Amino acid sequence: MSALPPGATIGILGGGQLGRMLALAAAELGFDTHVFTDEPDSPAARVSTAATVAAYDNEAALAAFAASVDAVTFEFENIPAATGEALLRAGKPVRPGPDCLAVAQDRLSEKRFFVEAGAPVGAYVAIDHLDQIGPALAELGGEAVLKTRRMGYDGKGQAWLRGAADAAGAWAAIGAAPAILEAKVPFVREVSVVAALGLDGSFAAYDLNENVHQAGILARTTVPASVSAATAKAAIAYTRAIMDRLDYVGVLAIEFFELADGALLTNEMAPRVHNSGHWTLDACAVSQFEQQIRAVAGWPLGDPARFCDVTMHNLLGEAAADWHALAQKPSSKLHLYGKRDARPGRKMGHFTELKPWPRG
Ligand code: AMP
Repeated sequence: MSALPPGATIGILGGGQLGRMLALAAAELGFDTHVFTDEPDSPAARVSTAATVAAYDNEAALAAFAASVDAVTFEFENIPAATGEALLRAGKPVRPGPDCLAVAQDRLSEKRFFVEAGAPVGAYVAIDHLDQIGPALAELGGEAVLKTRRMGYDGKGQAWLRGAADAAGAWAAIGAAPAILEAKVPFVREVSVVAALGLDGSFAAYDLNENVHQAGILARTTVPASVSAATAKAAIAYTRAIMDRLDYVGVLAIEFFELADGALLTNEMAPRVHNSGHWTLDACAVSQFEQQIRAVAGWPLGDPARFCDVTMHNLLGEAAADWHALAQKPSSKLHLYGKRDARPGRKMGHFTELKPWPRG
């Protein structure tokens, strides 16, 4: 098990803001980066040493990419599992391994996997046909959300139902694709854990995040989360159990719903750095992005300790146009992703409000 030395090249699949922040963190440790993305002029490519713009199944481009890197990671989970496998066949370590993509890309496999790992999930029914929705909705208590099994994120591929009359509309809204119907969870709070497993098996979890979503998209994250110590401990234990079962190397995030009695239901996982962990850039010695690079390179994990309380605010769509005012906010740190057009709901940047602890 040898660690990659500074000067080695880390390959990053995906060109979005997560890839950008990974590339910046890699540079801070002396690594070069090579971004592989199907998007021209991407946020990550513009801060990387090298970039390839090609389809994820372009074998010649993948072979050339593999030849130029020492290890590979990815910044989003919807890259084809075959892409990761082609890179493995080319002899390059892919961290985390492509196996976790198969679990994370399908909401049904993901839920079954959580249950096998001992992490509880809310009531749900697998749906393959429109006529299954009515009976499933009755079984789930009359209010539920229909989610496509594949390719859903940030509230996309989801439709809420409040009665059997909504079935046909919801089925059409998600594209009549294989889905799961989830009972509405009466949560009091949404929380997530961002944690890492190193190549040497060491584990490091950041403090729990308390997340507020609007229209299915993360709006803000506050740390510490207002949960009991027992709930925080349970969330981290479930996360660890899931990571161990995946034989994971790298950073992973799990989102949970907290119920009124403090119990947790596991919602979904992201086998990568996560929006709810962006605050670690400004409030920890080692951010989630550096942690991921350390894990991918086989380095010791960094200390996830937090230096202050924080709230991270996402800047969606036109919100980032206020950069001049945001740049003058006291005790806050602005991050912009360099995206060219501000479509509604698009993540353009974020800022972290730092709330220093009183000197004692
Ligand atoms: P997801 O893409 O599954 O994380 O869903 C996006 C957001 O929709 C979640 O963070 C919740 O705010 C809300 N949501 C999703 N599923 C449920 C559910 N079963 N019950 C209540 N709210 C939900």
